[in-house]
Amino acid sequence: MDKKVPNLYTWLVPKLRQIARIWPGKNIARDLAKEKVHIGFYKNGNPEYKVMYRCSSCKELFDVKETHMDHITPVVGPEGFTNWEDYITRMFSNPDNFQCLCLICHGFKSDQENKERKENRKKAKK
Ligand SMILES: [Zn+2]
Repeated sequence: MDKKVPNLYTWLVPKLRQIARIWPGKNIARDLAKEKVHIGFYKNGNPEYKVMYRCSSCKELFDVKETHMDHITPVVGPEGFTNWEDYITRMFSNPDNFQCLCLICHGFKSDQENKERKENRKKAKK
């Protein structure tokens, strides 16, 4: 057998991300962003509602598919990966560290965070 042991980080991170999707802390935070919107009436006259989610940044309402639950304090901060203790406690954080963001606002925040990490890596190399 000449199978190599994979890099722990690249092997473990996708698995942690997978189970983070069902982390109760995140789901509690998602429920807090939920709003019942009155969208019309059924033929029988009963009001029809749709569950939507309020973006914490632009304050608009979105369908669940158009939102992400964002870590307010990012899992990997501007300083980059520190250790597993930090990584895991941040990924599986309390509901108050999560916010609901629409895809556009989330993309914007992620880009900013990536830029900061990249700049810090550059600084560290010098
Ligand atoms: Zn937004």
